[in-house]
Amino acid sequence: MPLTGLEIFKLLPNTNCRECGFATCLAFAMRVAAKKIDAEECPYLSEEAKEILGASAVPPIRLVKIKSGSDSVKIGEELVMFRHEKKFFHQTSFAVCIEDSKDEKEISEKLEYIKKINFERAGEILKLDLIAVKDISGDKQKFRKAVNLIKNSTDLPLILVSENPETIMAGLEEIPDHKPLIYSANIHNWEKMSELAKRYDASLVITAENGLNSLSELSEKIKNKGVENIVLNPNCSNPAEILANHTLIRRFALEKNFRNLGYPVILNVNGEESFINSVIGICKYASIALFEDLKVWEHLALLTLRQNIYADPQRPLQVDYGIYKVGEPDDKSPFFVTTNFSLTYFIVSTEIEGAGFSGHLLLTDSEGLSVLTAWAAGKFSGEMVGKFVNNSDIENKISHRNIIIPGYVAVISGELEDSLPGWKVYVGPQEASDIPSFLKNVWSKEN
Ligand code: SF4
Repeated sequence: MPLTGLEIFKLLPNTNCRECGFATCLAFAMRVAAKKIDAEECPYLSEEAKEILGASAVPPIRLVKIKSGSDSVKIGEELVMFRHEKKFFHQTSFAVCIEDSKDEKEISEKLEYIKKINFERAGEILKLDLIAVKDISGDKQKFRKAVNLIKNSTDLPLILVSENPETIMAGLEEIPDHKPLIYSANIHNWEKMSELAKRYDASLVITAENGLNSLSELSEKIKNKGVENIVLNPNCSNPAEILANHTLIRRFALEKNFRNLGYPVILNVNGEESFINSVIGICKYASIALFEDLKVWEHLALLTLRQNIYADPQRPLQVDYGIYKVGEPDDKSPFFVTTNFSLTYFIVSTEIEGAGFSGHLLLTDSEGLSVLTAWAAGKFSGEMVGKFVNNSDIENKISHRNIIIPGYVAVISGELEDSLPGWKVYVGPQEASDIPSFLKNVWSKEN
């Protein structure tokens, strides 16, 4: 774990000699802790201090990169147990299995299915991240062929799934310029798998059948063989196991700095409890969720969950404030105002378009807060909204003087009318889902 300024200070000579350019050792330590300078700038660091500082600079959970020719996925390098302490850095990557026993047509259909799971939510594209080619046939030539077909049809990085090192080698030979993930080494094949991982610069999943002790022992052996990029498979099959084992692995890594478990974790999702296992895995530290099979709606729900868990809790999702066009508005189109919280913007604009209308949508600078929260925080008052309207060029875009405010802040309508003389304030619906009926039943009849 990174050291604090005071912890670094205790490792310094405390002579305040100023040779580093700072007036005191304490000032120097604070700059080192803030990562503004390197501790090596002090010429009087003891060997012991160098060793401690060097070890603290290594992330407690290793960053592992899985690459194709043109795409890559990063996992690991997490620093906290709970997202509110800072944030989670690398979201759970979603991988979908394609079995090598399928024929060319079936593989192409599965690739199409994977491509289709791609949608925009709150300004972010949500999609699947990895493809796992799975050895079902037991025939290394079939596996090779499947890897070849898939690498020529997608840019997504690959996971090669087999316990047979010869089959894995056949797959690796098809993608020598990628850095795939090999799944997996176990107590029987780990030496050969380690050799392959080193030769092809691949990352390696370790699976241990007998709990975290055997996982830790195997990870140490594989690291001593020279494989650095390891992913742990604690082999969990139900929600209780996932919760317990994933939490223990992260606690050992972060709180005990236990290097044997300081790696990202993969969760194999299959069987009857797939969906709930995935939910627990996303919330609790799975770096990769490897799906055998899942319905489209399940993927969409899980991608949405992932987006929420991995958003930075200290920075609300927001879009730039200003006036946005929804559809192809003209001077008679309705004029809405709301906050610049991303989700509000996307839901409101979608509902306006979904109703068959175009419109002008003013987003005020409410620091990414939702409507009610912004109002309660004093960032969405009638006076503020009036100022935004007056400072905008909306009067050049519309011929009417009607403004629609969110129903939840009906209370600002009087103040807004005072700020915008000559304007009519419409109190719109509370829920965005009622915008279509508002436009048809109120707006269209009066405008
Ligand atoms: Fe302290 Fe080292 Fe800087 Fe001297 S050079 S003030 S000992 S940190």
